[in-house]
Amino acid sequence: MPILNIHTHYPTANPEVLAIESLYFGQPTPGSSAWRSVGLHPWYLDFPEIALAEHWLREQAARPGTLAIGEAGLDHSTSTPWLRQVQAFECCLRVAADTRKPLVLHCVKAYDEVLGLLRRYALPAVFHGFDKHPQVAARLWQAGYYLSFGAALFNSRSHAAEALRQTPADRFFLETDDKKLDIKQVYERAADIRGSTPEILQAQAWENFQNLGGSILLPGKNDHTT
Ligand SMILES: [Zn+2]
Repeated sequence: MPILNIHTHYPTANPEVLAIESLYFGQPTPGSSAWRSVGLHPWYLDFPEIALAEHWLREQAARPGTLAIGEAGLDHSTSTPWLRQVQAFECCLRVAADTRKPLVLHCVKAYDEVLGLLRRYALPAVFHGFDKHPQVAARLWQAGYYLSFGAALFNSRSHAAEALRQTPADRFFLETDDKKLDIKQVYERAADIRGSTPEILQAQAWENFQNLGGSILLPGKNDHTT
């Protein structure tokens, strides 16, 4: 069973880790990981045609090793025009629905809007980089979505630790995002917070990944599940 890092921007050299590297349209350097998510990031939507991005996204989604669609989502704190963000997010939702892949979501101050659009598609989804109040977390996991926690777990002023403590075991993932962190440190920190062990959390996150639909997308999945 690999140690899952559900969202990172860097490849990993550790063969024990299954790291899902996030790629976005217009990214200056191509990703080099065996496993990836592909999306239209709300920060990087300054291109002329959504149709061009959708073509790229569908091509990338069809590559072996693409396990999820994302980052995708909405962000009220960025300068990207709102209409363009909605168009790009809807494009990601269409591709996720057509390819039956789960979503990795970037959501900043836009929970109502993201949940509203998600409801139309009924897709499995992970809210990555979660650092909000446990009440916001509960709203998401009660709606059937997953939360992924990372660097904010090390910040004592963040609500992330309390949100993780209150999140049911079958609803969490862990990640390093764009931080130069070792995912094993994140599992150790999360284990302290939940009064558990890194090994138990690794097994639980892997089981959650199966339930998310991620494992059906892995070639040779039996190697991982036995
Ligand atoms: Zn990210």
